[in-house]
Amino acid sequence: MRSNQSVTRIPLHSFIKQARARGIDWKLAGSRYGVIIAIILIPVLGIFRIDVSSGFIVLDRQIWFSDFHIVFGFWLAFASSMIILYSTLGTVFCGWVCPQNTFSAWANSATKKHLGKKAVIDWDAEKDASVASGKNHWNNWAWLSLKMIIAAMLIALIPLLYFQSPGAVWSFITFQKNEELAGSLHWIYTVFTFIALVNIAVVRHFVCRYMCIYRMWQFLFQTSDTLHVVHDKNRQSECGTCNFCATTCTLDIDPRDTNVYDSCINCGECITACNSLHDKDNKPGLLGFKLGPRRNTDGTKKTSNLVSVKTRLIWVTPAFLIGASLFTWGLVNYNPYHLAVYRGEVPRGEKIQDYKIHIANKLYQAAEMKLSIENLPENSYTLSTENVFFETAARQDIKLHIIDEYLKPGLHTFTVHLTADNGWETSYKQLHLAK
Ligand code: SF4
Ligand code: SF4
Repeated sequence: MRSNQSVTRIPLHSFIKQARARGIDWKLAGSRYGVIIAIILIPVLGIFRIDVSSGFIVLDRQIWFSDFHIVFGFWLAFASSMIILYSTLGTVFCGWVCPQNTFSAWANSATKKHLGKKAVIDWDAEKDASVASGKNHWNNWAWLSLKMIIAAMLIALIPLLYFQSPGAVWSFITFQKNEELAGSLHWIYTVFTFIALVNIAVVRHFVCRYMCIYRMWQFLFQTSDTLHVVHDKNRQSECGTCNFCATTCTLDIDPRDTNVYDSCINCGECITACNSLHDKDNKPGLLGFKLGPRRNTDGTKKTSNLVSVKTRLIWVTPAFLIGASLFTWGLVNYNPYHLAVYRGEVPRGEKIQDYKIHIANKLYQAAEMKLSIENLPENSYTLSTENVFFETAARQDIKLHIIDEYLKPGLHTFTVHLTADNGWETSYKQLHLAK
């Protein structure tokens, strides 16, 4: 694609420099890399992790599926807020948040730096990839390969942070022994590294274009007002044969004519590019973001079968508020410990005298608790222990044996009472049939 005279007089690197110095570009980079930093910090700071044996860990608390208000409330609030996001800002997630896009953009820029801009694979197959003759040296290939391998090794550590404690991941990196680490973790990490390497070395934006179902999912929530790029038709004569915005777009869209269901990810790079062209004349560019109905060239509203943002928000906002309220209520009433009493397993027809008292500490901190039995004579039962101690989040089973000889024949309701050292207490009622 060729640029007009005024454009070709200004060196390309100057455009990019100007574009980076102002406008959306630094915000875009800040958002993309900020998200990567947040993805790393979330498990490191203990905000959220996954424990395969017990569910989610939020702020060093185990969240079980039985914590219904927290789990359901969170997902309802999260899903509703995502629908609000897709309905208002469109596929902005892809442009400003998605790590796949961030890593692909980084890999493309590293490739351009070491092998030339034509070395980046064009997934539209309009042009073949080729290495710039001046850059086809072994040291350029070696530097690029080294960068890709280091990047893949770092990327592969991120999923581990969500399944292992930060201390365990540190032990893994520094080759120290740690009981938390699974024996097969090195293999799992090697597979993650290989997948990450293939992704950033070859696949890159191919995922965004042809494989990403999430992008399609976001399209389902488009409204007639969703954020989109608009071109100032009153000044379109200023474009001439300039094509800078279109050549800047990594998705090969012409930003002057976007459609409801095109691949535009609202990244804003075309807007920055056009602004940079008009900087010297102290004029704004011809492109901008608009939240509202799309318009025809004569300014009339484009007809659309899509609902408006307002209509969508009318039913999504209550769902969000319900979810947020349930989540908050669940957090306020969160149970840090769990008590349940089960009958011991005996052959059918035989009398049950043993019970299993199951206690769980859901907090990743030490806890001391006291067990007591109510509504049974003191000499009619034995407990394997009355004092329960946990070093961290874990489960314990305490054995309760009931001696029928000290009870009248018939049904007895007894209560198992648990009191933690921080004052938290709960109880569990169980029936016992004395024969
Ligand atoms: S919108 Fe801006 S960047 Fe795009 S062709 Fe017109 S002047 Fe060039
Ligand atoms: S048209 Fe502009 S905003 Fe849309 S993807 Fe291309 S560069 Fe980004």
